[in-house]
Amino acid sequence: MIKTILLVDDSPVAIKILKRCLPAEYEFESHVANNGAEGFEMYKKMKPDLTFLDLTMPVMDGIETLEEIIRFDKDALVVVVTADAQKKVYDKVMALGAFMMLSKPPSRDVVKAAILKAGLAKEKLGV
Ligand SMILES: [Mg+2]
Repeated sequence: MIKTILLVDDSPVAIKILKRCLPAEYEFESHVANNGAEGFEMYKKMKPDLTFLDLTMPVMDGIETLEEIIRFDKDALVVVVTADAQKKVYDKVMALGAFMMLSKPPSRDVVKAAILKAGLAKEKLGV
């Protein structure tokens, strides 16, 4: 089950949209980080079940943040959320160990599907 969620994005509007997309029928503990460096620090502290990660951010961008998170926790479930959803970006983030990639702005259905899929992946990992 996905219970703790980390949202990493420098845009307050994007955070607001993501929060609104979290399925209301589950109770999540969600935390927000405003850039990649903050996101990675928070990841280490809270070890979230699932992380939604923007790519274009100040201080530390999403690519570097993804690398740091995966280096720290190889089983991390990171969903990259980006407006730049090109195939080459997809290939890169998946090669770095992202769980999946969503286009911005995400819809409720897509976010819910991602959370359910992540829940199954976690069960498989037995963590
Ligand atoms: Mg951004």
